[in-house]
Amino acid sequence: MVEVLFFIGGCIISWLIAHFYYHRSSKIIPEWAKGIVENLPTQQPTEDELLQLFQEHLDSGEIEVNPLLNRVACPKCGESAKNFKEEVYGGDSVTIVVFTCPICGWSEDAQA
Ligand SMILES: [Zn+2]
Repeated sequence: MVEVLFFIGGCIISWLIAHFYYHRSSKIIPEWAKGIVENLPTQQPTEDELLQLFQEHLDSGEIEVNPLLNRVACPKCGESAKNFKEEVYGGDSVTIVVFTCPICGWSEDAQA
């Protein structure tokens, strides 16, 4: 579980830096990320600081990691993974869950 969190944290951090830190003023920030972005220090934060911020928001329940996709947001539009629509398919031996973004229509399936 700890490794998974670190992996996710690493992905989120790279993504946050790329998408928000350097383009802070020119991007539309998704609702779920506002808390994080507003708390970013004016100097580039260290990875430890970002991990800590991310963990705080995870703990607060503002961010939810989708356990099947390992995502917190839509990769296309940034919509929170909490709002993904879920459709479940499958039979006795296998279950496939299709997650669809309600905003842009992006979708990905995962085996449950
Ligand atoms: Zn989307």
